[in-house]
Amino acid sequence: MKNSIITIDGYSSCGKSTLAKQLAKKLGYAYIDSGAMYRAITLFFLRHHIDYTDHRQVVDALTDITIEFHPNEVSHQSEIYLNGENVEYLIRDMIIADKVSEVAAIKEVRDFAVAQQRLMGKKKGIVMDGRDIGTTVFPNAQLKIFMTADSAVRVERRFKELYEKNPNITIEEVKNNLEMRDYIDSNREISPLRKADDAVVLDNTNLSMEQQLKFAENLLKEKIGAV
Ligand code: C5P
Repeated sequence: MKNSIITIDGYSSCGKSTLAKQLAKKLGYAYIDSGAMYRAITLFFLRHHIDYTDHRQVVDALTDITIEFHPNEVSHQSEIYLNGENVEYLIRDMIIADKVSEVAAIKEVRDFAVAQQRLMGKKKGIVMDGRDIGTTVFPNAQLKIFMTADSAVRVERRFKELYEKNPNITIEEVKNNLEMRDYIDSNREISPLRKADDAVVLDNTNLSMEQQLKFAENLLKEKIGAV
């Protein structure tokens, strides 16, 4: 089935993107990492010293931002481009993670990102992960998954991932960042992180990757008739 929209929302570092990529590959759908868009906007604001508490500066800066996704020629995974520059790796830095939730709470930033996300979903056949995809971006999606896991497990997973790139990182830093982001994301005024009423909860605290995929594949069968 080529014409469905699948949304995966949830807390930071639950493995949303891993599952989203697996499902997209399986179905031949496009995968869109909506968090990467907020991270790329944050990178632009930091580079250009935009005072993002100043409405005017935010509005002006957004007119200078173009975001696109293009597949990596080797891995075939989609990667994000900010004004023509591949920033897929740069945006994973802690400097961005420290500020992204503040930036993502700004109305104009969300309007800008959500408008583009909806355009990307026009052709359907898409798996998009984020925080508000099932609630705000695609409230009529055919399958909505809400992912969660114990916070200690999430901290450990994210720490391992970041440590490979930066051995100076500490587990406290990672823990504080995840807690701070989950708090801001869940308590902001516009499109806070919450489970859509019709989303299925996937708690992967005690699930292996295989078990998680099996769970999601069963949902695919049930909700959109795909195997
Ligand atoms: O998914 P990722 O952890 O890369 O997202 C980074 C941040 O972007 C989140 O902590 C959140 O502040 C913001 N975000 C959002 N809405 C989305 C996706 C991400 O507010 N749909």
